[in-house]
Amino acid sequence: MLDIHIITLFPEMFDSFIRSPFILRARDANAVSVHLHNLRDYTHDRHKTVDDVPFGGGPGMVLLPQPLFEAVESITAEAPADRIVLMTPQGELLTQQKVASLARESRIVLICGRYEGVDERVREHLVTDELSVGDYVLAGGELPAMVLVEAVVRLLPGAVGCADSVFDESHSFAMLEYPQYTRPSDFRGWRVPKVLISGDHERIRRWRARKSLERTLLRRPDLVEKWDREAVRAEVLKRLSEALGEE
Ligand code: SAH
Repeated sequence: MLDIHIITLFPEMFDSFIRSPFILRARDANAVSVHLHNLRDYTHDRHKTVDDVPFGGGPGMVLLPQPLFEAVESITAEAPADRIVLMTPQGELLTQQKVASLARESRIVLICGRYEGVDERVREHLVTDELSVGDYVLAGGELPAMVLVEAVVRLLPGAVGCADSVFDESHSFAMLEYPQYTRPSDFRGWRVPKVLISGDHERIRRWRARKSLERTLLRRPDLVEKWDREAVRAEVLKRLSEALGEE
């Protein structure tokens, strides 16, 4: 069971997300529980102040350290957290590998920034990880947190109906997935590759391995650098030999 705690100024942004069939199913399977914490609940003044102007001047507002520290401390007082993650465009890029490592934890805290971001001391003395969902800047960490949660939850046992579909897909082995087709076999004159309806499982495996290799080399040659990593090497070699095997 993975326990996820999210600290945000806008918990209502998560309403439909946590009630989506995908998350509900994982919850019913006891794979995950998601808890939202409103940052304003950790303020002590009448105005529930969460931000202030930056020292040194400049535009916008910065989230105060005090409510963020107290929010995290109240969560970790119940039980320690394995990771305290700050969503930030300055963080490490979220990859499938990182997602898989988070899916192995039992308790994680996600901090969603807003405005110009958070006081630097949060980064320095509170968080264990800083993660970015891509090289672009959003207005807040809520969507990035949902991206992270969805990617992590689908790896949890019991969350996705078919464990194999998670195992086989793009990025798990630093290779893109082969093309998929479904009915009808002839749609507006565009036919499904013959081999896929041949019933010959050996040939289908080889075709898929070849397509997966071809796609990776054409679309994401940068992934090839990861092929030497021990975790992926065996699988890549298996697919290469399948792809190169006799027709
Ligand atoms: N001025 C900040 C950006 C603030 S954006 C800077 O230059 O670093 C406001 C908040 O949105 C951030 O604190 C972060 O929580 C979230 N955010 C924006 N883009 C993001 C991204 N690509 N990945 C993760 N979080 C992001």
